[in-house]
Order: sequence, then structure tokens, then C-alpha cells
Amino acid sequence: MSTEKEQTFEFQSEVKQLLDILVYSLYKNKEVFLRELVSNAADALNKMQFEILTESGLSSKDEELKITVSVDKKHNKLVIEDNGIGMSKEELIGNIGTIAHSGTLDYLKKISESPAKNQVDLIGKFGVGFYSSFMVAKEIHIISRSWQKDSPAWLWKSKGESSYSIEEAEKAGRGTRIELLLKKEEKEFLETFQLKNIILKHSKFVPFPIYLEGEKIERQDAIWTQPKSKLNEKDYAEFYKFFENTQEDPETYLHLSSDAPVQFASLLFVPKTSFELLGLMKTEPGVDLYSKKILIQKGSKDIMPEYLRFVKGIIDSEEIPLNISRETIQSNVRIDKIKKHVLKKLLEHLESVKSKNREQYLNIWKNFSKNFKEGIVSDYDNREKLSRLLLFSSSKSGADQLTDLKEYVERMPEGQKEIYFLGGADRLAIEKNPALEIFRKKDYEVLYLTDPMDEFVLDHLREFDKKGFKMAESADIPLEEKSEVTDTAYLKDADNFLTYLKTIYGDQIKEVKISKRLTDSPCLLLNPGDGPSVQMEKIMKMVNKDYQISKRVLEINPEHALIKKMVSLHKKDPAAVSLKNLALQLLDNMKLREGILSDTEASIARIQQIMLDSSDQT
Ligand code: ADP
Repeated sequence: MSTEKEQTFEFQSEVKQLLDILVYSLYKNKEVFLRELVSNAADALNKMQFEILTESGLSSKDEELKITVSVDKKHNKLVIEDNGIGMSKEELIGNIGTIAHSGTLDYLKKISESPAKNQVDLIGKFGVGFYSSFMVAKEIHIISRSWQKDSPAWLWKSKGESSYSIEEAEKAGRGTRIELLLKKEEKEFLETFQLKNIILKHSKFVPFPIYLEGEKIERQDAIWTQPKSKLNEKDYAEFYKFFENTQEDPETYLHLSSDAPVQFASLLFVPKTSFELLGLMKTEPGVDLYSKKILIQKGSKDIMPEYLRFVKGIIDSEEIPLNISRETIQSNVRIDKIKKHVLKKLLEHLESVKSKNREQYLNIWKNFSKNFKEGIVSDYDNREKLSRLLLFSSSKSGADQLTDLKEYVERMPEGQKEIYFLGGADRLAIEKNPALEIFRKKDYEVLYLTDPMDEFVLDHLREFDKKGFKMAESADIPLEEKSEVTDTAYLKDADNFLTYLKTIYGDQIKEVKISKRLTDSPCLLLNPGDGPSVQMEKIMKMVNKDYQISKRVLEINPEHALIKKMVSLHKKDPAAVSLKNLALQLLDNMKLREGILSDTEASIARIQQIMLDSSDQT
């Protein structure tokens, strides 16, 4: 049999750039390269373990699955070896010479410009782990033999510049051996005590034994299977840091275990940062599925609903068969039970954080409110639980505070039947809306919806604590408050004026009415019924240009000085051009406020005419 000769390959161009970033700018904390290599070795062992347990031809009495770290001081060599699944030639080319995750490079470029302290956390998150070894090595050799029957071994060599080579090699047994020829100035990584410290610091939860120069390093067993009473805050934080390759503590965690009706253990974490908020990438699901401490599915899409993709952790159940397929995971009744139970507990946990530690919850809210809202729209079964996690700014919450729906309901005065809300760009803009006048007067609280998604969310929610949601701008809220105008003569004139307005406005609006809710403003545009708000309609129009904004109701305040003046002008001369200008402008002003004025030129010309008229009088 002839052996294959050395062949040279170019790195994918992105890999070249990545190497530059890694070696010259990104990581100051070089020791993490070892964590990355150990974690790759552990992944390879995990996959091997899985094959051993599910492939009938393989013996579980196989050699011990392990990672070995050794040094050759004479040759400046650090060696990390595993007897995991190994790699074929094609796998070496596909896995090591290319970056799997598209967008990784852009993201890393961005990160490399951000403060040093945030940088190191991102290694490993985007499949760049292996390359970090070039921070300390001037040359790397990978000798690997795939576990597949009769596979030859291959030697992969690179100096970390633009190319690598592959040739057939000699290697006893399956697995991967990585030899780092260290740079002169990185000799510290040949010292055993140093290596041991690094392994203990970053890799002590690795689920396989690690031998350093023949000595077995103590490590911790799967912490999620241990009793809660044996663990403290620090254990959880340490595990999280290991699990997520981060230096950051988790925001909160939840450790669950149950023996009946189904057996499972679960350890879930909510991170302190949202990667979706930081960057452009959508987070991948972060909960891994295990069976008796053996990894079955990393980042399972089927164990957590998509909107909770930011949650990290593990669900382990001995009731899950090792060789379960994706389809079976989705339809397995037991898994479904576990999923429902874990989800319920997680949402309850978040609610309890909200009531016990509002400050901590505010950080969760800042990072993941979009996810909870997504959940309300997509997860009917947990809608009610999710609604308890919502926070809003409101007319009673104070400028930088937020309130939840339970607090709102508790504050509702007698007689108030619905939960009122009003949308707008920000708190200030909403507070200026005349629709609020009557609510202030009646002391009814109004939720301020500043996120365009909120109205959509409330629309899906329909009610909270049996109370419906109602837009404060709806014309059909029974808010009759003011005593009727008693001057019957004036009332008749005002009525005539209304008829006049109707003819002037034509089909621009649905209806003109005498307002029973305005106190300080001359008029107000309202929503005819339970249709979408104007903010929502504007979004719809953005999506579909042909969308017609629905016609609204104009309410007039007959006691306002401007309206009184117009009523009397109308009485004197209903055909006056100046009156018509005022009337048209009255409506345009409202449209302007709502951002739905289409013919701005006509409006400006009219305002100028009104200005001219008024300067004539002075
Ligand atoms: P990541 O581990 O984040 O995917 P790496 O660049 O570190 O990124 O590794 C790329 C790929 O190379 C891995 O996903 C894996 O398929 C393969 N690989 C790396 N190290 C090993 C190893 N020791 N044994 C088998 N495969 C490995």
C-alpha cells in the first residue's frame, strides 16, 4: 500500500484574517488556548462515548476515554492527546481549515476593537478555539486517526501563516494528538505546575479524566446530578463559567431534580449579557440534552421553546434513550413532560426574581424582554405566566421606573374595569397626548407602550387577571365625566358647527363628535373601536405601502376658547374662507401630532395664510 505524499492547502481567507486577529490583537489572556484544546478533546471523547454506547459493534470495555497533556522541554513541545473520534483527512480539511460559523469574522473584528476585558469571553463561542493555539505556538502538528474502521492516520502541519499541509502518518490507535511547538517567549507553558493551574482553573468540569505528565488531575463530577444541599453559589458560578467559556457570573440559575413522575435533573442559567443585543447574531439554543451524564444533543432545539434561546444549561434524564432521533425527541411523551415541567419552573423562578430582587430582574428585563414578548405571541400555554414577567412604564410608575401588571391591577380604583394603555415614541411624547386628560382626572392609570411590539403583545394577551386591555385612545370608552353644557342656544350653534365640520372634512374622518372627555385641549383624534392604534397602523403601512390607515373619530371640546371662537365665526358667516382654513387646519394639526399628515405642502400654505390673516388684524 502506498502512502499519500504531503499536500499543501491554503486556509480559507477568513481563517487567515482570524489568525491575524488572534495572534496580533485580540487575546491578551493567552492561557485559554489550553482550555480550547482540552474542550475540543472532551467533545471528541463525548462523541466517541456516544458511538460506543449506541454502535453495536463497539465494545464499552474499550480503553479508558481520557485526555493526556505532556511536555517535551528539550524540544519546546506541548502535547495534548485524546482517544476520541479522531478526524479523517476530509474532516481535517473541513474542520480545521475553515470557519464553520458565518459572520464569525465580522463579529470578532468588532469585538477586537472593544475593551480588552470583554474580549476573552468570546473565544470558543464562535468556533475559533483551535486557532487560539497559534498565540503561543510557532508551529502546530495534528496527528489524527478517525475511529472508523481501517482509517489511516494523518499529519496536519501549519505555521499559522496562510497554508497547511497534510500527509499520511503513523499513529497507534484512534484519536487526536496535538503538538504545539511553542514560541521562545511562551516557555512557561512547559511548566507542569503552570499547566496544572490552568487546567484546574478552566477545565475541572470536563467529564473525562485528564492526565498531566502521567498524573491524574482531580476534577468535579457532573454538578447537576449532585444534591443541591452539597452545592453553593460559587460552585454554580464556576460551573457556568466553564460551561459557557466565560469570565462572567450567571445572572441567575435554577437547579431542579425530580424522580417522579419522570426522572430528570436540570441546571439552567440566565446570562448577564445578551449577545443578540450586543451583536447581530441570533443566539443558538443553549440547553444541552443528556442521558445519565452523556451528551445526546448540544443546544437542543426541542427541549426549550425558541424564545428562551438565551437560557443556558443542561437537562439530563435517564429516561431518554441514547440513540434517540430528533423526531423522537419531539414526540416523546416523557421528554414533553420534562420540558413542560422545567419551563413552568423556570418561568416561576423568573417571576420570583422579579418580586424578590427587582434590580436584578431589571437587568434580565433589559436583556431579554424581547424574548418574553416573543413568548407571549408564540407560546399560548405559558402566556399567562409570561404576562407576569412583563414590565411597563406607566402614568403612575415615575419617570425611570417600571411597573408590572399585578401592581397595576392592585392600584386600580373602584369602578375601573379595564387596563388602559397608550402608545408613543417615548414617555414624554405619550404624556403630551390629550387623550390622557380624562384618565388623569379620573385617576385611572395608563400603561405607556414605548416598544412597538407592546401593543401586539397585549393584543395577544387579551386580558390579565380577567381584565381586558383597552387603548386610551379608543372613542368608545365610557368615561362620561363632564356635566353637559347647559347653554342650549350655544349647544345648538355648536351642533350646527359640527355639521359644518363634517361637510368640510368629508371622508377624511369617520365621525365628528362633541367630546365628553377633553378638558384642556380643543380636539382629539380617537380610534373608532378596538382596531389597531395609529402607531401600529403606521408600522403596517411601512410593511405594505397600500395599507390604508383607518378613519378616525374627531372629538371637539365645545368649552375650549378656540372652538367657541370658531362656533361664533360659523354663526356669523358659514361661508367665510378664513373659517374653512381654521377648520381644515384643526384636523391637520391632529394628523401632524400622530404623524399621519400626508399633504404637508397644503398644510404649510394654509398655516401661512392663517399667519397672514392674524398679522393683518394686529
Ligand atoms: P470548535 O471546537 O468551536 O468547533 P475549533 O476550531 O476549536 O472550533 O475546532 C474545529 C473543529 O475541529 C471541531 O468542531 C471538531 O470537529 C474538530 N476538532 C478539533 N479538535 C478535535 C479533536 N481533538 N478531535 C476531533 N475533532 C476535533
